[in-house]
Amino acid sequence: MGNIDIDDKQWYGTNLGYDYNLTRKRLIEIKGLGLTEVGNASFGIEGLMGGLYIEKVWHLDDEGWESYINWIKEMKSKRKIRERFRDDVFERDGYKCMRCGEDYSHMYSPELGLDAHHITDRSEMPNGGYVKENGISLCKENFDEEGLLIDSCHMLAEKFHISDGKEWEKYMHPDDLYELIGSSKELAIEKSKIL
Ligand SMILES: [Zn+2]
Repeated sequence: MGNIDIDDKQWYGTNLGYDYNLTRKRLIEIKGLGLTEVGNASFGIEGLMGGLYIEKVWHLDDEGWESYINWIKEMKSKRKIRERFRDDVFERDGYKCMRCGEDYSHMYSPELGLDAHHITDRSEMPNGGYVKENGISLCKENFDEEGLLIDSCHMLAEKFHISDGKEWEKYMHPDDLYELIGSSKELAIEKSKIL
């Protein structure tokens, strides 16, 4: 696990007919993109994708390699946008659920308990709507007094999307959620356009 050691034999050893110099050059390119080793002779971006096997490095022609690298770059930039969205939403909401007030600020990884919910669905927003004006912090899981799993604050907000806007929980309509964070659909769209 961890950083790719370009000179590690596992990257070169087992395949007949690979081109040593080409493999090395491509591994350096991958390392420069910040990819890490995630398994035996495989690399990836932690938390996003794994299992990018060394065979790709060996077998793709130049054109195939270029589109592969471009795909990785796109995945990386999408991840950055998603992470910034999540962090901005949590920070604005003080790492608390905006429905029930549960406080996750003491957690090392608040994202384990909190979801950055898209108030208007990604598919309906320019650039996926990854702006804090379209996001709200809601509990991923909730329990009743006996410790049993109940509909989470996030699930209650999802009702609207799941039913194609026909049903929603009281106070959990997108308009209610926008009001809770001092935003609106119009503002969220405006901000998303310049993402
Ligand atoms: Zn909650």
